[in-house]
Amino acid sequence: MSDHTTNSEKIFKKSCTIIPGGVNSPVRAFGSVGGTPFIAARGEGAWIYDVDDNRYADYVMSWGPLLLGHTHPSVLEAVKKAADSGTSFGVPTDAERELAELVAERMPWIQKLRLVSSGTEACMTAARLARGATGRDLIVKFDGGYHGHSDMFLVKAGSGLATGGLPASGGIPESVTSKTISIPYNDIEAVRNLFSERGSEIAAVIVEPVAANMGVVPPAENFLQILRGLTKKHNAILIFDEVITGFRLSGAGAAGFFKVLPDLVCLGKILGGGLPIGGVGGREEIMNHLSPMGAVYQAGTLSGNPLSTAAGIAMLRNLNNLTVYEYLNRYVDKLLGQLVPLFTSSNCEVKINQIESLFTIFFTENDVTDFESAKNCDMEKYARFHKAMLNAGVFLPPSGFEAWFVSLSHTEEHIQKTVDAVTAFLDSES
Ligand code: PMP
Repeated sequence: MSDHTTNSEKIFKKSCTIIPGGVNSPVRAFGSVGGTPFIAARGEGAWIYDVDDNRYADYVMSWGPLLLGHTHPSVLEAVKKAADSGTSFGVPTDAERELAELVAERMPWIQKLRLVSSGTEACMTAARLARGATGRDLIVKFDGGYHGHSDMFLVKAGSGLATGGLPASGGIPESVTSKTISIPYNDIEAVRNLFSERGSEIAAVIVEPVAANMGVVPPAENFLQILRGLTKKHNAILIFDEVITGFRLSGAGAAGFFKVLPDLVCLGKILGGGLPIGGVGGREEIMNHLSPMGAVYQAGTLSGNPLSTAAGIAMLRNLNNLTVYEYLNRYVDKLLGQLVPLFTSSNCEVKINQIESLFTIFFTENDVTDFESAKNCDMEKYARFHKAMLNAGVFLPPSGFEAWFVSLSHTEEHIQKTVDAVTAFLDSES
């Protein structure tokens, strides 16, 4: 790999004059890890190349959608074929039905599915549906949980807000966020207390069943089961935000993995195979509240877009093979199996949260079980780590509050590259 980044720097500088911060999504700006982002030129498998022709082992993978890797032939072929017939119609297509059926086959608790264009829209629609269906206003979320950037969810949110150290976003009236209650993730007592005080006002509890926007934090034992029990008891709706976990934790997402069935599920990322998509689905009686059947309005010019549905169908068909998840898990087990002894022998304190193929390496000596403990990690050290890894040809999430994303295209070569880069980093720190 060459270490020059002249073209990236030039382009980024120009972008900053016309695009706020030079990026179209804040974490891409490398704000918390320093330096300027490289400008992507192309991807291939689990490699990403910049405009200076540097090659990086990619653990960002577009933040999750690319479970098969970049430029997977089956997805590309499907998208090209769909594009030949038209890029958007504004009337129904049979591909929308096919994608919805493929989802329902894997997640039978999704009796009906509405396709939208992003995870943000999926979560926003789920909350509106829950409010419409219950006639209640309160939405309960968890600190460090991220459910897209609609107004109601930007309260103690993870992802870019955590990275930027922002408690909440500007531009949102308190009258909106006053209907959102955020409590600590994995805090069963807090959930119980909230339900005993305000249970009859709660429209929905929305949760990332494995938190992945404060770094990966798995649910405490019985946490999801207790959420299920309390929401049912109080006639509130349980929403699993599976935008990250859907089709990644297992073919049936986190609900299938933990065998806890929510009322509504939010999907995105993998569902669109790398093209823009989102989906909200669940129990028929709730989904039937959506317009045009019911009174809860939701719409989208590009919803169910034919390129996105073609990519999504190709993606889901590839996931039929049960060895997919074995492969992903084996890759991560092998990678971490080699990295852990390196950290230990150089006295570098880390905690690794891993569940199946989802994981984050936190620089801390304490367990990370919620947003508070995630925020207590050494983020300056993560910034040095990120920079060293990038210089050694490994692209990690440019924030310590994110999951590392692997794909079916990650191979032994990526493991070796990562191990070498971590070794060099630890040498430089000691
Ligand atoms: N929910 C979760 C759990 C997410 O991780 C994200 C995005 N990272 C979203 C919702 C929002 O999705 P999008 O960026 O597609 O709007």
